[in-house]
Amino acid sequence: MLISSGEVDRLSAISYNDQYQRAKEKQILVTSGPDYDRLKVISNRLIAQTGVFRDDTRQWKWQLTLINAPILNASCAPGGKITFYTGLIDQLNLSDDEVAAIMGHEIAHALREHGRERLSQAIAQNAVTNIALAAAGGYGSAINAANQAAQYILVLPNSRQNESEADAIGLELAARAGYNPQAAISVWQKMIKATKGKSPPEFLSTHPSGETRIEQLSELLPVVQPLYKEAVKPLGKKSS
Ligand SMILES: [Zn+2]
Repeated sequence: MLISSGEVDRLSAISYNDQYQRAKEKQILVTSGPDYDRLKVISNRLIAQTGVFRDDTRQWKWQLTLINAPILNASCAPGGKITFYTGLIDQLNLSDDEVAAIMGHEIAHALREHGRERLSQAIAQNAVTNIALAAAGGYGSAINAANQAAQYILVLPNSRQNESEADAIGLELAARAGYNPQAAISVWQKMIKATKGKSPPEFLSTHPSGETRIEQLSELLPVVQPLYKEAVKPLGKKSS
């Protein structure tokens, strides 16, 4: 890879902070209330399980941002920077299990550094010209460089292979955290339904979906069901 983990985390943190500040200025940042509290509980439970997949996540500076906007999207930037939009929760009427399915999948991308991979590819193809230079203080503002990097890290579609990997890890994270892994299937079905007659949700442009994904998830379910059975379940789960 052409860019270090530490550098990708640093750029992601700058871009994430910029997004946070802009949401705050627009007064669309949600920092309390039932939706925020729900997400906080779910994210904490998932984060607590990430050590199964790599041992340095305890040192990550995990953050959660909830933005009040009619956008069907969610992400987890490198280094543990989670973003959720209220539109995704409200329009798909997500249960806690379904929130955990999406969040687990996104966290999995961060754990496996898929964003770093895509940014490295962009650098290799000379698609990214000034990130490394600007990030090193060569020229341009650090925020612009970080936001350009974030386009490659978060906005370009993932490869099918990375999507399958994120599905498998996400499923296991959710199951271990006490969320029914079956919800990964219902949430993708809802997502596909939401695309009918409208332009596809933002989430689907970065996560191409379809029957193949649902089939693969169904095949993986029996593997993680025992983990879910053994897991301590959260109290007062919200159903859809
Ligand atoms: Zn994905």
